Amino acid sequence: MHRLRRPIRMHIAPVGVNKFCFLFSLAFCGLLLLLIPALQPPARQVDLPQPRPQARRARAGLQHRVGVPGASVRAELSRTEGTGPDALSPKRGMGPGRGATPPTGKAGGPSGYRSRKPLDFKDIFIAVKTTRKYHKSRLELLIQTWVSRHKEQTFIFTDGEDKELQTRTGVNLINTNCSAAHTRQALCCKMSVEYDKFIESQKKWFCHVDDDNYVILPSLLGLLSSYHHSQDVYLGRPSLDHAIEAAERVKSDGSVSVKFWFATGGAGFCISRGLALKMSPWASLGNFISTAEKIRLPDDCTIGYIIEALLEVTLTHTHLFHSHLEKLQKLPTDTVLEQVTLSFGGFENRRNVVSIVGGFSLADDPTRFKTVHCLLYPETSWCPNSA
Ligand code: UDP
Ligand code: MN
Repeated sequence: MHRLRRPIRMHIAPVGVNKFCFLFSLAFCGLLLLLIPALQPPARQVDLPQPRPQARRARAGLQHRVGVPGASVRAELSRTEGTGPDALSPKRGMGPGRGATPPTGKAGGPSGYRSRKPLDFKDIFIAVKTTRKYHKSRLELLIQTWVSRHKEQTFIFTDGEDKELQTRTGVNLINTNCSAAHTRQALCCKMSVEYDKFIESQKKWFCHVDDDNYVILPSLLGLLSSYHHSQDVYLGRPSLDHAIEAAERVKSDGSVSVKFWFATGGAGFCISRGLALKMSPWASLGNFISTAEKIRLPDDCTIGYIIEALLEVTLTHTHLFHSHLEKLQKLPTDTVLEQVTLSFGGFENRRNVVSIVGGFSLADDPTRFKTVHCLLYPETSWCPNSA
């Protein structure tokens, strides 16, 4: 009986069903049309890189040797943005660099670069240059203060064994086996090892300081956060108020003059990973030493030479880095804790330290590093009034 009913219903209702289906499909299509824009994935936010610094004016007749980076650096370079083979070669056929455009970068860094992942302390590689004879008089103070807060990303480059210090404090102490002399060659030897260790570390930023620097890590993190590590960034403070002019040896038959800015090593400087990779032909695996020989200048000048003169990337000047070449007392007291690096000097005659007051007398804290540290981290056990 059931079977009989169905065909009958199908015969009496075809018009109504068809009309209903038609109207339903119309309504469904309309709804779909309305939903299409809403269903589309949101437009991807594009992180626009900041404009690159203007390339230096072309320099005629200067031929640089173009080194060949190692395979691992080449592979990493090809993974970073905008790094075709051109990125590795200095611009050829360029003029002698006189009248170079002044650096355009300013302290504080450009804003507006939106990185997906915020920069973390562990992304920064801090190289401290020291020598065996300063382990007690300088290094211990750094280890007691700022290094103690950031042992994992701090790498101390020295020239002699000190197992006792290493086991007692747990710092990364690297014996470069470079000579302990204060010569250009010995200093460049250390810088060369610093560079190689940084590349090996896979970290995003390379920062170099001397053993008479206090690094205010939160300020450093804030400064670097306004840039991106894949861009070409060279940050520091020049010790001169003009570009340095050096005679660059070319082959065996003479030299040409090159002009470039460099960040003074005594105040500290930072280099992005993207830029550090491009430096590889002149900096990696001992090439740094032969590059320094070409201009016969110290390690920090050689860094400036590679970046400004060979790669044509401009130094971004910052006033947040300080060496004892400047009068540190001039730094306004209420801005001391906002700086990125501080230094001390001049104990023999006139003391050159930042003016800051805290729980320590000048006799107890002649460098003022302990005072700075306790103002930044008052909870430290040895600080006066610590909880
Ligand atoms: N230094 C070194 N070997 C030496 C003397 C100094 O590696 O024989 C390091 C020292 O540890 C410091 C840097 O070089 O990190 C600068 O040394 P210093 O502050 O004594 O001299 P400056 O150039 O600042 O006057
Ligand atoms: Mn110094």
